Amino acid sequence: MKKHNFNAGPSVLPRVAIENSAKAILDLNGIGMSLLEISHRSKDFQAILDETMSLFKEMLNIPSGYQVIFLGGGASLQFCMVPFNFLNHKAAYLETGVWAEKAIKEAKYFGEVEIIASSKDKNFNYIPKGFTIPSDVDYFHITTNNTIYGSELRYDMDSPVPLIADMSSDILSRPVDVSKYSLIYGGAQKNLGPAGVTFVIIKDGVLGKVDRKIPSMLNYATHLKDPSLYNTPPVFAIYTCLETLRWIKNLGGVKAVEANNIKKAKMLYDTIDNSKMFVGTVEKESRSRMNICFVMKEQYKGKEDAFMEFAKSKGMIGIKGHRSVGGFRASTYNALPLESVQALIDAMNEFEKNNL
Ligand SMILES: *Cc1c(COP(=O)(O)O)cnc(C)c1O
Repeated sequence: MKKHNFNAGPSVLPRVAIENSAKAILDLNGIGMSLLEISHRSKDFQAILDETMSLFKEMLNIPSGYQVIFLGGGASLQFCMVPFNFLNHKAAYLETGVWAEKAIKEAKYFGEVEIIASSKDKNFNYIPKGFTIPSDVDYFHITTNNTIYGSELRYDMDSPVPLIADMSSDILSRPVDVSKYSLIYGGAQKNLGPAGVTFVIIKDGVLGKVDRKIPSMLNYATHLKDPSLYNTPPVFAIYTCLETLRWIKNLGGVKAVEANNIKKAKMLYDTIDNSKMFVGTVEKESRSRMNICFVMKEQYKGKEDAFMEFAKSKGMIGIKGHRSVGGFRASTYNALPLESVQALIDAMNEFEKNNL
């Protein structure tokens, strides 16, 4: 049976990226060696790294004056690296979910943290509006897509202080005005590649403003000098990112990817909104295109497990909601085919018809 992969992360990747990565593991470009066996300082790997960085810049339309680097440690290490490198006295954070809370926790090791708005009062089911970014802080940190709760902040705001964003789960899903940001980071394993590599987009001239000493590996400056090659980078994960970026380019770029994402999300949200049985958990204007969260209405709550089983029997993978929301979460990342969304919709409609 065909599987429909709605996993939240690691998650579905373009089939062609997986196939080409598998080939490169067996024999990289016909050189008679595996991608896994070559030196990260060889010209073969340098070519991979250069193309990955430049395609990433091209696909995201990153202006000059920004560098892209690939690091280990996941987005979670960035929760600590960001304040280590940027927080002198005080930073501002937008509290929109568990990942934002984790970022806040790390920042508190380095200085004062001001939470300027939070949606915790309603279990993070909306993006706060109408907040003012203070001008006396070292930076303002946002999480653009809240993977667990299914809310998304989809506009690039003006900020009087350096704007820093965790874009782990919506990177390359829509065009971004990178010029508004001082730093953007994310784990690759939602929309870009396999687990094990983290992308960081960093604006020139934003470093060097903190007084503390920073250990080499945690200092962005170290990784910018010989980009992504201070120590051994995650070569395999980077290669798969390259294949994903090539896939995006072949599709027509991020604009084309976004059009698909809009279509997929609309299909599923329309189904939820027209359902007598299912209901979305996130306020409409804050809804994510990447993680679509829904539950059963109160009178049908008892049928959630049955639907889960039914959906499984139809090939749906990974639609169980995070324990802090319950119900269901369908992650509809870039590489998820439209047919998978349709299959989920068909399963929902069929189940509803038979169980109302
Ligand atoms: C998955 C995720 C993280 C954590 O990423 P790791 O690479 O596992 O550290 C952080 N932020 C967001 C928004 C995520 O979706």
